[in-house]
Amino acid sequence: MLLLECGRHSMFLSSLKLFLKFICKLSNGDTNKLSYICLLDGIDYDIGFAKDLLQLCNKAGMNTIFLKDCSTNPSRKCLSVKMCEQLLFKLHEQEKQNLFLLASNAQFHKCYHLIKNDFLVEKYMNCGLPFSHVKLIIAVRTEMFYLNYKPWINADLITEKCVYCNERESLLHVLFQCSGYDSVRINFFNSKTINNKDKQINILKGYSSWIIVGEFLYEINRIRKCKLSESQFIS
Ligand SMILES: [Zn+2]
Repeated sequence: MLLLECGRHSMFLSSLKLFLKFICKLSNGDTNKLSYICLLDGIDYDIGFAKDLLQLCNKAGMNTIFLKDCSTNPSRKCLSVKMCEQLLFKLHEQEKQNLFLLASNAQFHKCYHLIKNDFLVEKYMNCGLPFSHVKLIIAVRTEMFYLNYKPWINADLITEKCVYCNERESLLHVLFQCSGYDSVRINFFNSKTINNKDKQINILKGYSSWIIVGEFLYEINRIRKCKLSESQFIS
C-alpha cells in the first residue's frame, strides 16, 4: 500500500537498477580486465548473476539482455542500456499490477482501492504541507491511522472502544461519525457528520484540497490524543 501510495519502486527494483548500471559499465569497459572476463564467463556458462538475470528476463517476456557488439568486436558481449531500461520498465509494470491486485483483494484495507487507481506520487507530498500532516494523510489512506480498532488483531469490543463513545473506534467512525469530533467537521466541512460514502471517499481523495484534509486530520489526531491523555490522567 505504501509503495502504491508514494508511487515508489520497491527496494528490489531500485537495487536492480543500480546493479544493471554497474554491469553496463563493466560490459562496456576494458575487455582485458578480470572483471570483464568474469562477466563474460557468467554469460557464456549461464552461471551466477547471469543466470538470475536471464530468469528475470524470462519473467518479463524477454529472451535475453546480453547483446553481441558486432560493430567493434564480434566476440564481445555487452549489456545494452536500452534493454536494461526495457527490463526495468517491464518488471515495474508487473510490480504495479501485483500491488494493485493485492490492494483490491486486501482483507483489512478495504477502502484503499476506492481511493487510489494509479501509481503516481500523490500531490499532497508536494503541496507544502508539513510532514506531520503528510504522514497522517498516508496513515489514513492506507488505513494505518493509529486507532483502538485494528481489524488484523482479534480483540474485544472493550479494547476496540472509541475514546469518546461506546462505538468501535474504526477509521470511518472517527473521521466521519463520532460526536467527539463534530466541531472539527463543522469547522472544515460545515457538517456534524458525513455519512454519504461518496463524500467520505472524495475527502480521502483530496477533492476539497489536500491542505484542508491535512489540517482536518491533524486536528482530529490532536483532539484524540488530548482525550486519551485526559482519561489516562483520571484513571
Ligand atoms: Zn466515538
